[in-house]
Amino acid sequence: MAGEDEVRSWLAAAGRVTVLTGAGISTESGIPDFRGPQGVWTTNPAAQHMFTLQNYVADPEVRRLAWGNRRDHPAWTAEPNAGHHALVTLERSGRLRAIVTQNIDGLHQRAGNAAATVIEIHGTLFDVECLGCGARTTMRENLDRVDAGEPDPACLRCGGIQKAATISFGQSLRPDVLRAATEAAADCDVLLAVGTTLQVQPAAGLAEVAVRAGARLVIVNRDPTPYDALASALLRDPIGTVLPRLVAAAAA
Ligand SMILES: [Zn+2]
Repeated sequence: MAGEDEVRSWLAAAGRVTVLTGAGISTESGIPDFRGPQGVWTTNPAAQHMFTLQNYVADPEVRRLAWGNRRDHPAWTAEPNAGHHALVTLERSGRLRAIVTQNIDGLHQRAGNAAATVIEIHGTLFDVECLGCGARTTMRENLDRVDAGEPDPACLRCGGIQKAATISFGQSLRPDVLRAATEAAADCDVLLAVGTTLQVQPAAGLAEVAVRAGARLVIVNRDPTPYDALASALLRDPIGTVLPRLVAAAAA
């Protein structure tokens, strides 16, 4: 198993690095993770009920609570941290193929990564999608309607139920987004998996796609993952500490 020095040299030599990010990169920005030891799902499995599409569609009370959660989500005030900024440095070095993120918090773009570089496989909190006609609007304008007294704002085009443009339990990933993510995983020299427990498919399977295509898999995560045996290096240090060190040589 390689160490941090070798990872630095791989990144410095790489033409294309694809980064896969999960909740762990955003916890240092104050956004809780869901599946870690202190995660929302782990400590309160009932919370998962609200994020299941079937329950959301069936129960107006679930929707009312969900709109309140969106309004109170820490992503509205969170700031990108040193881990996010390191990936901007990597993009400026010309070596970043894509960031495939499981996060919905928009912090990669806020940090300064190009929107076209960020593939949000679980969607974004900042858009709303109509489950009826597919119309997309901004979260901000819908939350304004909530604040003006509509507990569950319906689609202005078709009257349908609206939801954050995120992937709920029971909801499929968008095929075009998944395709772009798979292409990015298959087309890199290094897949850097950061802050993801690699437990959710199909996101986790991207690690295997990359390895089969000949890439080195580097996992930066506090806890073990099911893909550790496939990895060329495992780094356990805090993300905001280790990522800036990793990209420094690549940017030089
Ligand atoms: Zn609609």
